[in-house]
Order: sequence, then structure tokens, then C-alpha cells
Amino acid sequence: MKYISTRGGVAAEAFSDILLEGLMRDGGLALPETIPQVSSETLEQWRSLSYADLVAEVLSLFATDIPKEDLQALTRKTYTSDVFGSEAIVPLKKLDDSITLVGLSEGPTLAFKDMAMQFLGNIFEYVLAKRGLRINILGATSGDTGSAAEYALRGKKGVNVFMLSPYGRMSDFQRAQMFSLQDKNIHNLSVHGVFDDCQDVVKALSNDLAFKEKYRLGAVNSINFARISAQIAYYFWAWLRATNTSGQEVSFTVPSGNFGNILSGHLARLMGLPIRRLVLATNENNVLEEFFKTGIYRPRASEQTYATSSPSMDISKASNFERFVYHLLDNDGAKVKALWDTLAKQGYFDLSDLKPEFESKFGFVAGSSSHADRLDTIKQEYEQNHYLLDPHTADGVKVAREFVEEGIPMLVLETALPAKFTETIQEAIGQAAPVPAHLADLHNLPQRVEVMDCDVEQIRAYMVANIEQ
Ligand SMILES: *Cc1c(COP(=O)(O)O)cnc(C)c1O
Repeated sequence: MKYISTRGGVAAEAFSDILLEGLMRDGGLALPETIPQVSSETLEQWRSLSYADLVAEVLSLFATDIPKEDLQALTRKTYTSDVFGSEAIVPLKKLDDSITLVGLSEGPTLAFKDMAMQFLGNIFEYVLAKRGLRINILGATSGDTGSAAEYALRGKKGVNVFMLSPYGRMSDFQRAQMFSLQDKNIHNLSVHGVFDDCQDVVKALSNDLAFKEKYRLGAVNSINFARISAQIAYYFWAWLRATNTSGQEVSFTVPSGNFGNILSGHLARLMGLPIRRLVLATNENNVLEEFFKTGIYRPRASEQTYATSSPSMDISKASNFERFVYHLLDNDGAKVKALWDTLAKQGYFDLSDLKPEFESKFGFVAGSSSHADRLDTIKQEYEQNHYLLDPHTADGVKVAREFVEEGIPMLVLETALPAKFTETIQEAIGQAAPVPAHLADLHNLPQRVEVMDCDVEQIRAYMVANIEQ
């Protein structure tokens, strides 16, 4: 399997090569040249696999340059009950007769990003050791990516992490989680700006090819295709647990920001998994909802990005969206490039002529949720179903209810646990969310962070001064 760029401008590369890079050289994103197909017979054979072995099966279709035994050793080292709290790794939790949650937040940072990131930490170490290389991870986070990356990469050989986060925009818990790490290879940079500003700095430095090559910059944000591919596995897992007959359709609802999680669902569907609908849920930052309802994509400036009570979805320029558009445009990289040129010039693009295909061909529908919806949903589910949702998953449940269909299981991805967002839980139900015992002391730990202006040169200088050679 080779990987091409969404903008069509580079030669195809192997999985291990794109693993260590961020954007492709032409500014596009890596995608597999063809989509591997999984037959219904194969799917039925996968029913008895453990989570770790299922991930190895799925990944072996994408990482064809790594021996399958090695992939299996890596997934077995990653997906353990010690790290993910139960043998199931991803438990399905029935909320009521129409909705089931897919428990993706049982890992060390209580959010779904652990699912792929814990694997990424291990496969990075494996590939770097094989090639005798070191890498410097430069990333931007609105909260959960950063902590998931840091917990996955802390202490890993050959890896430094520089993580940019928007100053004052993360929850106390997210801050405590990230900034309390004392590992020497972890650097937290708190930047005056919003998430998109942080992401722009990452893009500026990664687009400086001389700098990128000299310091071997890598990425762990959701543009890293290894993350996308590891996430595909839990769509398969959830389908296998929620159905008992071949061909039975299910729908998924995905609380979305950067379009990474739902893109994995989109790929699972293209691989042949019987997914009826992919329901995209946004918060007040509803650029993607607007696109799926109108065909017009109009990213917003950072001043127009609201700070909401589901902060990990406060994104108005979704990096991974370009990968979906590539498929929408029949894999035509030149068209994608032209479209992004148009976007840079006029601030939006219009694909309304393709709108009928969004659902009929790709299964996509969308909805959004406001602060009031979020609080109502948390309160209602707590009172009626005795389950405490985190604010992001609550956005998912709110939107999912608008798309439930008779006879089609609706699986909502649980993207975080409520303990991370206790202010909002307090507001919704008048009491704090329970904190897992092993995290009770988190807020008392000393924190380590550098506060900086949103300035590419200042951030570059900090990195250069702090890279361990
Ligand atoms: C990152 C995140 C999201 C959004 O996922 P994307 O892959 O960026 O669409 C949703 N909820 C939570 C809790 C997250 O951490």
C-alpha cells in the first residue's frame, strides 16, 4: 500500500515514511492510494478477536511495509487492560433502547485520542529504532490531543515533544494533566491565541522545509494518517459488538472538531463496513454542519471561533476535511489543489452541486448543539438513564436523537469522560463529576509550562534552544 497526497503533487510513499512526517511536501495530506476492502466473510471471522488483535488486522491492510507479527506485538503492548481499564478496551454502554455509547475514553487521559495516540507512541519508537533516527514532534492542541500525545510519548527514546495550546482556553483538568508532566522530553508552550492560531504556527514551521528537515519535525495531530488508521479499528469493533448478523447496518454519531475521528468512520465505511449514516455533531462552531447542509465551506477567523463548554470541538478550520473532499472530488488532486487555492483567495468554496452525494454516496448528515442543549442533555440523561455524559458526548447524543431510525442501532462515540469538564457538569446537574481515584491528586501537582506570544520566530527559537541532540 502506497500513500499519495490530496493535492496530487508528490510521489507515493510507504506507511512508515508518512508516519514520521506531517503535511506532505505539496501542502496536502497523505491518503492511501486505494481503499482496502474487507469482505463480509472476513468481518465474520473477526468477531472472536480481542481488541488488540483486531487493530493489528485492520492496520495490516494499511501498514503493509511492517510485518504483521510486529504490528500485533505493538498492538498487544498498547491495548492492555492496565492502560484501558478493562479487558474489553472499548466497552459498549447502552444508554436506552435507541442509543448505545462506544466507550473510547477509558485510557490515561480520559478522552478518545488515547486510542490512537498510545499506539502511535509505540510505533514511533519501533520505526525510529529501526532507522536509527530521532524526531521532534511539533503539535497544536485544543486540549485533548496534547495530553494524549504527551502521555503516549513521555520518556520515549528518540522523541521530543513541543506542544502548543491556546492560553486560558483549556479546562483546569486539561491544564493540570498536561502541565504536570515533568518528563524532560515534553515541552508545553501556552500561546496567546486560539487553537487555530496555534495550528497556523505549526503549519508555518512545518512548511519551512529546510527547518523541517534539519530538525526532523513530525506531527501527532490528527493529520497523521497512522492515527486515522488506528481509529478505523474501533468502528469495526463497535459494529462487531453491536450486531450479530452479517450485513446488519448501524449508524454512528461523532462529536467532531478537526474531522479526524469521523474521517476514520468514513474510511471504515468505504472499506465495506455496513455503516448506514455518519452523523457529524458540532457545537456552536458549526462550520462543518453548514457545509453538510449547504455545500458551502466557509472556515471562520479565530475571532469568530467561540470558546464553548465543549472546548475540544472549538475548531473552525478542520484539517482533515480535505481528505474527505479528495474522495468527494473522485480522487482528483489537481481539483483539490484548485479548490484550496480558491479558498485562500475568496475565503470559502462552494460544492453545492455535489450536495446530493453527501448522504446518498457517503452517508454523511450533520447537526449542531448549543450550550443550553448540552446542559439539558447532560441533565436529562443523568436523570432518566443514570448516565453522566461529558459535554462533547452530550453534543453527540443531542444530535444523534435527531437521526435515530427504527431498527438501526445508533452508536454514539463517547469522546471524553465528564471528570475532565467538571465546571460544565456542575452547571448541568448541580454537583461535580466523580474523579477516578488515580487522578484525585492531579490539581496539587507542580506545573511546568512556557507562556508565549503567538509568534513563529519566538517559538522556533525556543525549539532550537531546547532540542536535545
Ligand atoms: C478531539 C476531540 C473531539 C473532536 O475530534 P476530531 O477528530 O477533531 O473531530 C471531540 N471530542 C473530544 C472530547 C475531543 O478530545
